[in-house]
Amino acid sequence: MAWTVSLDGGTYEEARASFAWDLPDDYNLAHDLLRKHDQSSDRIALYQAYPDGRRESYTFEELDRYSSQLANALEKRGIERGDRVGVVVPQKPSNPITHLACWKIGAVSLPLSVLFGDESLRHRLDDSGAKAVVADTTVVETVVSAATDCPALETIVEVTDDDLASEATTSFSALVEGESEEYEIAETTAETPAIIMYTSGSTGPPKGALHGHGVWVGHCPAFSMYFERRVHEGVYWTPADWAWIGALGDLLFPAWHYGRPVVGYPMGKFDPETAFSLMEEFEVTNAFVPPTAIRMLMGIEDPREKYDLSLRAVCSGGEPLTPEILDWADEELSGVVVNELYGQTEANLLVTNCREWFSAHPGSMGKAVPGHDVAVIDPETGEERPAGETGEIAVRHGDDPVIFQEYWNQPEKTANATIGEWHLTGDLGTVDESGYVWFKSRDDDLILTSGYRVGPGEVERTVLEHAGVEQVGVIGIADETRGEIIKAFVQPISGSGSSELKEEIRDLVRDQLAKYEYPREIEFVEQLPQTTTGKIQRRKLREHEQGSE
Ligand code: ATP
Ligand code: MG
Repeated sequence: MAWTVSLDGGTYEEARASFAWDLPDDYNLAHDLLRKHDQSSDRIALYQAYPDGRRESYTFEELDRYSSQLANALEKRGIERGDRVGVVVPQKPSNPITHLACWKIGAVSLPLSVLFGDESLRHRLDDSGAKAVVADTTVVETVVSAATDCPALETIVEVTDDDLASEATTSFSALVEGESEEYEIAETTAETPAIIMYTSGSTGPPKGALHGHGVWVGHCPAFSMYFERRVHEGVYWTPADWAWIGALGDLLFPAWHYGRPVVGYPMGKFDPETAFSLMEEFEVTNAFVPPTAIRMLMGIEDPREKYDLSLRAVCSGGEPLTPEILDWADEELSGVVVNELYGQTEANLLVTNCREWFSAHPGSMGKAVPGHDVAVIDPETGEERPAGETGEIAVRHGDDPVIFQEYWNQPEKTANATIGEWHLTGDLGTVDESGYVWFKSRDDDLILTSGYRVGPGEVERTVLEHAGVEQVGVIGIADETRGEIIKAFVQPISGSGSSELKEEIRDLVRDQLAKYEYPREIEFVEQLPQTTTGKIQRRKLREHEQGSE
């Protein structure tokens, strides 16, 4: 089986018209990612770097052998097809090796962030009923403590540098030692459950989205687009924790589908100098960098002079990209393309850009990716809205492999995410005459003020243009006459706000947007509530507001 997703066609329109999924009947992720490539050629899959200066590299063939050893070991520990296995490992080889071992068995892997605290881990391990978890030694204490309330959890495997595991755990290296390097991969199809990924928890408690083996190839058409269709070459890297769909689905696994090497580095807190040094050292050509991290890279002056970069294309998304990011790339990193992407844990990489095919319109997320039938619909009737009219962004189920199968243990929520043949994203937006998709807001963040519908993102983007503003979150608060009024929680750069700053912010929004869109109320805060991935949690701002009434 040497099947690879390719976007044929000279133009975007041709590629959209001719694209078909055609996934093989027997499809197993581990097979696709590891055994498809010419193993005799010693192709590198992973350049692994560590903060202490150590450097390693792993071929696809080695990852195949190691994941087979782990698959054999996990099977002996009672892991069977369908069982859930947690992975709490930063950017280190044992992270993808564990996923691959699970997929070989037909088990379901569960990526979990090393940044999670006790409660976050407990919720996800318990909700998913994980039977085993592979945890890095740096976070194992938290995992052990979280595990006390997870009755299904039988085994904690600890990844250490010195083979010494704590009493409550089993050492990863001891577990795999002596195990056979051969493993007969389970028979699966693109629909066989492979992974549960929890949503970020921006709007409520995180939900576990169950995906099949087809999920990562489902990301490949978008991967080809935002990397400007040069995916059979280059070196790939993301600073994002290998626990988010953004890191795994936008970069790591699609790169392996195309047999390309990825750089791994457990960075912990994002550091822009380290990021540029890594890109220089490994001649990284393509990267997925979340917007918050890009803003930190923007703090480094004259990066082109300080670093010898091979970077060609960067993709970013998960939240709106502010226009100054594109300007920065043009000015400071001339020649590097930054392409926005849009998707969600439930259905990722639906919309993106590709400069070779069409120009990017600042403020628009791009166009629908071939293979995904994206539309803006009326969420009550399922009817498509005409160009330019706001509705809910949706994607047709069809045979689209990126759409999740269910919210784990939440049949009602699963049912609510579908109308007719459409998966509802919960995001509002428009599609214009030329096919560009514009994000307006999450449907439950929309503010209704004096009869106008205002997306908080637009107001936030404008407020952020003020040089005195570090971060901002905008919500609607109840108001007798206007229904709702707009309130901005502002984190000022200097640490403390002033009435002048409030006035300047109001003027800025009044001038740039519309009279009804300016924040009537402004509250200065030291820190805004954020998800682990750096998204503002407007839900927490609303709760704060209700609490203070
Ligand atoms: P939860 O569903 O738990 O509330 P979440 O929606 O933030 O959290 P994710 O699945 O990580 O969890 O994020 C997907 C969401 O992020 C999308 O539904 C959309 O609201 C937002 N998003 C993603 N890409 C973009 C983008 N390019 N522009 C604007 N918003 C985006
Ligand atoms: Mg969501």
